[in-house]
Amino acid sequence: MTKHPESHGGYQRYFIETELTPDIVPWPNRFLVKVNRFQLAKLLISEIIHYRGDLKAITSRPCMYGVFSGPIGGFAPRPQHCVGCLRCTTQHPETVTILHNPERERLGDSYFTSNYINAVTYEAETGSIPVKGAGYPGKFGGEGWDGMWTDMSEIVRPTRDGIHGREFISTVVDIGEKPSFLVFDEDGEITSPQPRILSIPVPFIYDVPPKSAESEGLYEILATAAEQTQTLSIVPVANYKLKAAGRRLPGENIVPLVKLGAESHLEGLGFTPKMIEIEVADAPTSNIRHLISTIQSQFPDTIIAVRIPFGSPDALLQLYESGVRVFHLVADFHGRGTDGRFVMDLIREAHLAFVDEGTRDEVTLIGSGGIIAAEHVPKAIITGLDLVALDTPLLVALQTQFEGDCTDREGSRFNTPANIPLQWGVQRLKNLTATWRDQLLEILGAMGLREVRRLRGEMGRALFQVDLELEAFAEIEGYVSK
Ligand code: SF4
Repeated sequence: MTKHPESHGGYQRYFIETELTPDIVPWPNRFLVKVNRFQLAKLLISEIIHYRGDLKAITSRPCMYGVFSGPIGGFAPRPQHCVGCLRCTTQHPETVTILHNPERERLGDSYFTSNYINAVTYEAETGSIPVKGAGYPGKFGGEGWDGMWTDMSEIVRPTRDGIHGREFISTVVDIGEKPSFLVFDEDGEITSPQPRILSIPVPFIYDVPPKSAESEGLYEILATAAEQTQTLSIVPVANYKLKAAGRRLPGENIVPLVKLGAESHLEGLGFTPKMIEIEVADAPTSNIRHLISTIQSQFPDTIIAVRIPFGSPDALLQLYESGVRVFHLVADFHGRGTDGRFVMDLIREAHLAFVDEGTRDEVTLIGSGGIIAAEHVPKAIITGLDLVALDTPLLVALQTQFEGDCTDREGSRFNTPANIPLQWGVQRLKNLTATWRDQLLEILGAMGLREVRRLRGEMGRALFQVDLELEAFAEIEGYVSK
């Protein structure tokens, strides 16, 4: 399926071309379809009588997805077609049972569970939004991101529809420094720092893959997909050159990642990056300041971002004082900071640190870690990020498997398929990016917002399960607040 560009005069609406891109590695089916053959035979006899021997009608029932439409119908069901709609077992519970496939549930880990794996792989395969929740009888809250709901009170407005184009909703975000005011000298010349902004059409960039997954092929896929979707791909500067192929990664949407002390790698880069990210860990502020000014003198038009773990607000404010304006804050793959707190609280704390200082609009906050579903992106932005850097979802889109619980960024083991075809990998990432953007448009439309930049820090759009429960049950004897 393809979304066509719309061109009106000199203006072209941003779009990402999606295309059906099936798995290249056979993964276990999502569901097991168990049939009671004796009951099926009885059912068939009654169906033959009812439909007067019309085989086409008989074998197409009761599943419109063709699970029972093979050569011998329900006697050899085809579970690979099952989407788990439960139509069959609702009508014929004595004949068909639908079960989750335990092998499928072993994909992923304790955080990136099979439900998330299924959603991401569907999005990467089809470029379409998965339909979830029909007839769902379970809980509507939970831990982490599931404890936050979003206010959809504008959902009744039919014109506020960004996907089908009735009204344009912008997903453009700005990365860079935006001083609150300008200072002029007596001659009217600006003497203070001026705004330096890089705009990208989606509020997500591609983060550097973990060590155990990295390969030249993977970097080429990430860089090419970033180029085609007009976002950015963070690549360790040493990997910029494809050694095996004797050439460089394509496009100028690469963000070289430099470690403190390894800045000499930037020499001979061969192009001017739009952004450079420096990893400073807990280096002294003076060293960071020196590194930034060294890189800035070499690349005066490039945005410099500092990559650090989520941590104390004081450390962020110190970095701000030393000139840092773009922060890439990193949690582990399960969304936990070094002190064990969840990323939602950590984002909030970082955002409010700058709000309290009156400098929030001057800085850009990028975050990564624990953002594994399309709905986590708007939630992270509501909590206070400007944009997110995607990590494990990109790997899952490429059918990467987890080895054990993959929490730690350095030590986790991922098993990425060998020799992924470039075109296949690029299209899977384009499909994922397109569907996550579409889902963002859905949520912005439902909130009545015309652009994602207005969503940042809009906590009035968030409802927290813990607060609502407290409000409803606080006075009831026996209620224990979580
Ligand atoms: S659950 Fe739905 S998709 Fe699966 S076999 Fe039954 S009717 Fe078909």
